[in-house]
Amino acid sequence: MEIEENIKEFQNYLSNKNCKLIAVSKTKPVGDLLKAYQAGQRDFGENKVQELRDKQPELPPDIRWHMIGHLQSNKVKYIAPYVHLIHSVDSLKLLMEINKQAIKNDRIIPCLLQLHIAEEESKFGFDENELKEMLDSMDFMNLLNIKIIGLMGMATFTENEQQIRKEFRSLKKTFEFFKNHYSLPNADWKEISMGMSGDYQIAIEEGSTMIRVGSSIFGERIYHT
Ligand SMILES: *Cc1c(COP(=O)(O)O)cnc(C)c1O
Repeated sequence: MEIEENIKEFQNYLSNKNCKLIAVSKTKPVGDLLKAYQAGQRDFGENKVQELRDKQPELPPDIRWHMIGHLQSNKVKYIAPYVHLIHSVDSLKLLMEINKQAIKNDRIIPCLLQLHIAEEESKFGFDENELKEMLDSMDFMNLLNIKIIGLMGMATFTENEQQIRKEFRSLKKTFEFFKNHYSLPNADWKEISMGMSGDYQIAIEEGSTMIRVGSSIFGERIYHT
């Protein structure tokens, strides 16, 4: 029962907020996803293409699949037919490949641009100047089968609330800047994907419209290596 109850609690918590729950189901078996589905959850996030490909055919077709992890260009083709939103776009090269595969599938694929907001070196993402440069480029203008619907970011993994809050606030600020200055045919600035199990409350206070929550719904992940 636990997973259902966790979903219900999140539904309740979010009912008076302008924020969607993406249930991050990486490493979890399809049975666990079905439990969440039966509790009404429709948005699921995975961080690996192979895992998404394995799970998608096993589960109901009305699930909205979110790609939240680092995506390699050569794997875009596998998820292009059905992916609902790609949160982790971190290069023009990747975006061009998504556009190409979207054309092949006769659709427009919604994307978020991942911004590097954490102090840690390891996280993927653009910085603000790189984003501007890309959005100003002709290459970007020509991509008509993608739609940028907002930004995504991951805060530093730390206990320091002020640090996390500062990073989320900077993402929101950058979002507002692009929303106000970059009205483009292939962009519709409306979503800020930020907040995970450890920091979603702060993220919502700072303006998140999508939280990506895994372990608080499905329990801790066990990685077999
Ligand atoms: C795993 C993951 C999450 C969810 O993490 P939890 O701490 O389990 O909630 C969110 N976003 C991304 C990009 C992830 O890879």
